[in-house]
Amino acid sequence: MAIKAAMTGHLVLATLHTTNALGAIPRLVDLGVPAYLLEETLLAVMSQRLVRRLCERCSVPLTPENEEYEMTARWLQNDIGSARASAGCGSCDGSGYSGRLAIAEVFLPDDETRPFIRLAGGGVAGPRVGLEGGPTTLEEAAIAQGFEELGVDAAKKVRRGATTMSEILRVHRLEGPDESDDDADGASPSEPHGESDQAEERAA
Ligand SMILES: [Zn+2]
Repeated sequence: MAIKAAMTGHLVLATLHTTNALGAIPRLVDLGVPAYLLEETLLAVMSQRLVRRLCERCSVPLTPENEEYEMTARWLQNDIGSARASAGCGSCDGSGYSGRLAIAEVFLPDDETRPFIRLAGGGVAGPRVGLEGGPTTLEEAAIAQGFEELGVDAAKKVRRGATTMSEILRVHRLEGPDESDDDADGASPSEPHGESDQAEERAA
């Protein structure tokens, strides 16, 4: 139904439960949407999680004395930026957190990535897929295009001191930074692809 509406020029917004933005594609195919139609009609997929924001009144710079330091430094590959730690005060009821913020990833298909949508949906790849030295999966194509995974956005916000690594891990299971050496490029959720805030701006 949603896809029929999209084909006739309507903007359709829908919510699905998947672990990440790109996961929405095979999920929609599972729900009976032909992959070739998704390739033609999908405009954007966004995945987001709400995390607690560090209390601005009491948070403190993250230092090696803090129990969270080692874990945070590992996730951020020793580039902790201006990361901060929770403390607790009267205005946050001692929790160290006050308010929320979203961490997000947004996939906007373009001419380069669109052909991979059909592939991700289990369909036959188009002629532009699998070019010598080019991406071989939707995920690779999206990252080559500039797509930043949720973990990248999360890392930026931890580096900025807006939230903490333990808070990120509480709401979103990220793959560990040292789980596999063979899969280094896929298993480093906190590797920044640049210092811009593209994901946030697109999501706004
Ligand atoms: Zn506080």
